[in-house]
Amino acid sequence: MIFARATNNKKKLAEIQRILNALGHEAKSLAELGVCVDAEETGTTFEENALIKAKAVARATGMPSISDDSGLEVDALGGEPGVYTARYRSKDGSHPTDDENIDKLLYNLKDVPKENRTARFVSAVALYIPGDEPVSIVKRGTCEGRIGFERRGSDGFGYDPVFMIGDVSYAEMTAREKDAVSHRGKALRLLGEEISKISFE
Ligand code: IMP
Repeated sequence: MIFARATNNKKKLAEIQRILNALGHEAKSLAELGVCVDAEETGTTFEENALIKAKAVARATGMPSISDDSGLEVDALGGEPGVYTARYRSKDGSHPTDDENIDKLLYNLKDVPKENRTARFVSAVALYIPGDEPVSIVKRGTCEGRIGFERRGSDGFGYDPVFMIGDVSYAEMTAREKDAVSHRGKALRLLGEEISKISFE
């Protein structure tokens, strides 16, 4: 089955593609489909935002569409940055760089000891199939870890260098290792189970 993927983040796109491929599905990016969609993430939950994006892409492409909305919940920060993870460092609604976001996170946790730096990555993935009887399915995956004291590793994207599972950061893992434990891997595999029950006639 071919889906349209609702994200413009190239590394996240590659990750979604890789995980879906392993499940036997293919997903085309918006760039490959030649469409531009910039859905405003007005939801207050990952699930709402994922569905907003999948619906917007389905409207633009007419295709079954998959999207991911993800973020980091840090316990010592009361669950922040949560749905605002991408814009954590932003003061004016602009898009900060990954490095700027990480700098702010490390600064805000500078006095927090290792045992209190627990955090989780959350991914909500949504599938929206347009039509007379539209179908929407949303699944959540989480990955428990903690925020390190400094960056480690050079692979991956976003907050990968500071998200630690045991003594290894996401950015030190191979793609296969990350997909096996990641929030996104878990959410997409749950979605994959639902997709396998759908007949696409
Ligand atoms: P969004 O879902 O595209 O809005 O992005 C959420 C934010 O979480 C962005 O800052 C991403 O870089 C970050 N993020 C999401 N998933 C991951 C991941 O697997 N590793 C590191 N950062 C991530």
